[in-house]
Amino acid sequence: MIRCVSPIDGSAYAERETLAPDQGKAAVVRAKVAQPAWAARPLAERIALVQAGVARVGEMNDDIVPELAHQMGRPIRYGGEFGGFNERATYMARIADDAMADITVEDSEHFRRVIKRVPHGVVLVVAPWNYPYMTAINTVAPALIAGNTVMLKHASQTPLVGERMAQAFHDAGLPADVFQNVFLDHQTTSDLIAAKSFGFVNFTGSVSGGQAIEQAAAGTFTGIGLELGGKDPGYVCDDADLDAAVDTLIDGAMFNSGQCCCGIERIYVAEQHFDAFVAKAIEIVNGYVLGNPLDPETTLGPMAHVRFADAVRAQTAEAIAAGATAHIDPARFPQDGGAYLMPQILTNVSHDMRVMREESFGPVVGIMPVKDDAEAIRLMNDSPYGLTASVWTNDVARAEAIGDQIETGTVFMNRADYLDPGLCWTGCKDTGRGGGLSIIGYHNLTRPKSYHLKKA
Ligand code: NAP
Repeated sequence: MIRCVSPIDGSAYAERETLAPDQGKAAVVRAKVAQPAWAARPLAERIALVQAGVARVGEMNDDIVPELAHQMGRPIRYGGEFGGFNERATYMARIADDAMADITVEDSEHFRRVIKRVPHGVVLVVAPWNYPYMTAINTVAPALIAGNTVMLKHASQTPLVGERMAQAFHDAGLPADVFQNVFLDHQTTSDLIAAKSFGFVNFTGSVSGGQAIEQAAAGTFTGIGLELGGKDPGYVCDDADLDAAVDTLIDGAMFNSGQCCCGIERIYVAEQHFDAFVAKAIEIVNGYVLGNPLDPETTLGPMAHVRFADAVRAQTAEAIAAGATAHIDPARFPQDGGAYLMPQILTNVSHDMRVMREESFGPVVGIMPVKDDAEAIRLMNDSPYGLTASVWTNDVARAEAIGDQIETGTVFMNRADYLDPGLCWTGCKDTGRGGGLSIIGYHNLTRPKSYHLKKA
């Protein structure tokens, strides 16, 4: 049984029965049987059906927004995820023709030599709760468009999301077995992967979860995409627009109660701007309203689960005990308690503290002064993770030169916390080895097949 405990009040919000191992295997068989006919449909037809499914999700948005608040605590004032969900799916639909096009090396009197892209078969998508629609659609839309059938195993914290997506896609006309929402426990998921059920598995979540998936796939030669955790830095250079930097970086640290894979978790500021940056950051954070996410006034909801809030509390307390300065007065956030976690800004932090090295995934950020680019680059790279980094400067060449030296999947200049569907969403080090969205997303969701045809 999967149980979603609402972070709003700790009540049981939804319960779903997981599939028994035999039911899981049967779902795989249905997906395999359905796949050739799905792949045989014209690309334009697959694109149209996926786009219709996406539009149908949009029609459900008024119901989805409060459902998200109940499941994972995001305030209703932010209006759900349809903007990004639709942007990503629409972009992937638009580039599909080019991304899936044959690469013709030669078509002469004597030879036809061509590389085609063919679907893997059945793709398993394992999705997290923090942006449950947007993270899922990154793979679901291009996988289906590419001619795979898809099984979606969503997070236990957000069990209604997979159901909504399946309902929307089926209403739009996608055959039931082409896109299945499945409730699977970890063991059944691993067993299905180990039994070579899938042509490709895309996992988005924690490092430990990614390791479990990689171990389950060991020796099966199943392709896997792993989009894992991060400890993303922001660096404010001496020539940055300070107001824009502090607004965006603090929003990037605190939005969604800090539960963003590419949320800003640590900030390095050129020393001459340090005091001004910290003062403005404190002012912004003191303006947040922590509370019930169903209240339109709330800007900061509870964390998705009390255990996540407690983990951040422990990291923060440990840093303070080791000498960090906490700048946000708990008296300003009397709602703090349980899953409701007050935001915090820490200075006098160092890389000896877990809060500067381990993923916090909560509304806390440490800020350090740096004397030059070299020190900032060294600190940004002093991390087991490599998802994104956000550099603030008015000099594109400088940002690019710094970017070249940072070990991350994405380098931002003067922005943060955004997935550009035209670019590859990827990471390095413990962030895994995903490669979603963009033309590269299609390449990962298909395999190349070469034709060397000798004419008469
Ligand atoms: P999680 O505990 O790893 O769960 C993510 C998903 O994986 C859930 O569906 C979960 O199922 C499933 N899962 C976990 N362990 C599994 C196992 N051993 N076998 C099968 N399935 C397993 O991560 P989370 O706490 O939900 O998500 C937060 C993490 O995701 C953070 O580290 C965040 O940085 C990362 N994240 C990364 C990206 C990215 O693009 N790089 C995007 C979003 C989030 P259950 O819910 O049923 O346990």
